[in-house]
Amino acid sequence: MLDEPVAEVYGDHWSIAGGPGVPGAEAVNHADYLPGRNVLLSAKAAIWCRLRDVETLCFGTLKANPHPDSTAEFFRELEGVLNRALDGRLRIIRPYESLSKAEVIRRGADLPLHLTFSCNDPVGDRPCGVCIKCGERRNGFPRAAGFPDRTPYAAAGTDAPG
Ligand SMILES: [Zn+2]
Repeated sequence: MLDEPVAEVYGDHWSIAGGPGVPGAEAVNHADYLPGRNVLLSAKAAIWCRLRDVETLCFGTLKANPHPDSTAEFFRELEGVLNRALDGRLRIIRPYESLSKAEVIRRGADLPLHLTFSCNDPVGDRPCGVCIKCGERRNGFPRAAGFPDRTPYAAAGTDAPG
């Protein structure tokens, strides 16, 4: 696990400050854009890979991701830049690029999905249950995946209906 401290860069952005500025579960899909997110995530990980002769870097980008740093073109160009900078042979893969959240959840039906984490505004070590990412997750479980969401959400009334 690599730490990615970004408070100095993002300042009082909702992703750092949390609270009322965090896009809620009903926000439009692009409301959770984090400027430069995938540049930040890839740079440190790519260097880690290069120093250990790891040649594949995986991103969990989903089909519905509307952000400019999540397109096939972006990742193709990023891969080129990283390989040029690191004199490497890194390959960036995105195995979920054609899948919805519900489809990914369905693939993991036999896994302890309640231990995974995708919240934008955690309460301690628990997902908030009300942010856009928790909303996407809650919607992915009961409607399309067909099995209960056992995620321990912090907000009352957001425990899985299933
Ligand atoms: Zn949340």
